[in-house]
Order: sequence, then structure tokens, then C-alpha cells
Amino acid sequence: MQLNIDAGWIEKRLNDGFSKDDLKAVLLSSDAEADLLYRAAREVRRKLFGNRAFIRAVIEFANTCRCSCVYCGMRAENTEITRFTLDPDEIVSVAEIALENGIRTFFLQAAESEEYNAEWLGDVIRRISDMNMMVLLCVGIHREDDLDYWFEAGARKFILKHETSSRELFEEMKPGFLLKDRIQWLRTLREHGYHIGSGPLLGLPGQTVDSLVDDLILMKDLNVDMSSISVFLPARGTPLESYPVGDVDLGLRFIAAMRLFLKNTLIPATSTFERLAEDGQLRCFNAGANVITVNMTPPRLRDDYELYSKRFYVGLEHARKTIIRAGLIETTEAELFGN
Ligand code: SF4
Repeated sequence: MQLNIDAGWIEKRLNDGFSKDDLKAVLLSSDAEADLLYRAAREVRRKLFGNRAFIRAVIEFANTCRCSCVYCGMRAENTEITRFTLDPDEIVSVAEIALENGIRTFFLQAAESEEYNAEWLGDVIRRISDMNMMVLLCVGIHREDDLDYWFEAGARKFILKHETSSRELFEEMKPGFLLKDRIQWLRTLREHGYHIGSGPLLGLPGQTVDSLVDDLILMKDLNVDMSSISVFLPARGTPLESYPVGDVDLGLRFIAAMRLFLKNTLIPATSTFERLAEDGQLRCFNAGANVITVNMTPPRLRDDYELYSKRFYVGLEHARKTIIRAGLIETTEAELFGN
């Protein structure tokens, strides 16, 4: 497949749509072609969102997990981390600090844990939502009834990463789980009224560019409101601890592909890019991203939320500087909802 990407090529796909081969060409583009793609991605973002970048705060409130994802440091078998569940009052006090700092989207993230139940989390959601903050959940798969309970408490957004659209790779990486169930859960979230987010983990062993194209098509099919990509970094104490990291440049091309193909999704500049490359998150913004998330997990617990080892923690100052350097203006997702 030899497709030379230029401004006309991009314009035609933006008008007529991208084929699978076109998406593959984007992911395999040369550096010069990628620069054109990034420019076009920024223009699509400007038309749809203006020059705005959305800022969130995340707290990782529980790290006990019943799952055994082979790439994740919090997998049930890993004994090298200390397990914790934060006290609700502490979670709410962190949300208050975020609000005092002008952040109005609060992201509650946790492993798939039985340490917290629907009522416990519902109470936390209600307290934060009552502060006029938008609540975003990333807590894995629970009971369907819980979704209504949390929605009534005020949660409106839910992220569930599909990690890979390759059925075989998914089942190898997440033993005991089926890709089709995860996709169905994303549809169920939508039926229960949530804005949904998903995305792959880039650099899993055996992952192909074709499967990354399928990731894009899956997210389009699901009509996601939020789309993301994280770059694989190994976590100690896991079966993948000595595997190489994922490819940042391919990740940046994937961000541009999301912006050009999915168009109006919220796309985060994830911390994995900053961990792996100088100005990694700025480069994400320059490739079409429009969200940055400040990590507000209490420092004493951060290292035990081990998605990967030696994490980069995004502070408020870094987030704001990155937004300014990208030529964007900070705003909140509440604005998109008109409140
Ligand atoms: S990726 Fe999520 S579900 Fe899988 S082991 Fe880690 S925390 Fe648990």
C-alpha cells in the first residue's frame, strides 16, 4: 500500500470518509506526512471545539482488583503493592481542592474492586455532584442496576477502555474476559444515559497496525464521546514486566487519526506520553488532543496505583503550562453541557 498523503488527500477523506486503508496510511505515515495530518487534526479540533482545552482532576480511590490483566500492576496476583481504598471524606475533600482551583470535572477512577459497593460510591458521587462538579467514572464492570444508581447520584460519564479490538489478544491480555462482553457493556452504559469513552492500549505484545485500525472503527461504531490511547509501559511484578514500551510516534499518529476520523470526541493527552517523551503531552495536543487530567491521588498512595512502574504524575502547573504552550485556552467540560 503506497499512499502519498498531502493536503488534498486529507481534505478528500474529511469530506468523503476514511477507508480502512486510509486509516492504516495515517498510522504508517512518514514524519512529513504526519506533520500535515497533525495540522489538519488541529484544524478539525478548532472548528468543533474552538481553541479550548478541557481540564479534569482524577483521584484513584481503590486499587484492589479481582482481575488479572497481564499488563497491569494492580492485577490480583501482584503482591508487590499495598492495597488501599480511600475514605469518602478524603475523596470529597480532594474534589473541593480541585474545585477551588477552577477544575469542574472530577474523575473517580478505581480498579474493579469489591472493596466498594454501589451505595458507597453513589454517596461519594452525590456529594461531589452536589458541589456542581461533573462526575466521570472509570471503575470497570459492575452490576447493571448500579449504573442507574450512580446516574441518579449525578455521574454522567463513564470510561471503559476496550484495550484492544483483537479478540485473541484481548483474551490473552485479560484472562477470563471476552471482548464481546466489554463492547456490550459500553453499549449498556450508553443505554443507561452515560456519555461513554473507550480506547486501546498501544504496544501490547502481538498487537498489529491492522488491529489499531479496527480500534478506530470500533470507537466510531460505538459513537464514543471520549476516545483515548495510552502507551504501554511495563509494571513490575507482572508477566509483561520486561516487555518493551509502546511507540510514542505511532501513538501520536493514532491521536490524529481519532481527531480526523471520529472528529468531535474528547481526546486526552495521557501521562504515558509525557513519561516516555519530552513534551509528550504537548505533542498530543499538537496532534489533536483536547483534554488533560491532573492527578490528585494523595501522594502517599500514588505508587500503589501501579498501572505501570515509575509513573509520570500530571500536576496542575504542568497541565496549565502545557495548555498555554499548545496555544489553547483552558475550560471545563461543564461548558459542553451548558452549565
Ligand atoms: S487493568 Fe483494571 S481491571 Fe485489569 S488488573 Fe488493572 S485495575 Fe484490574
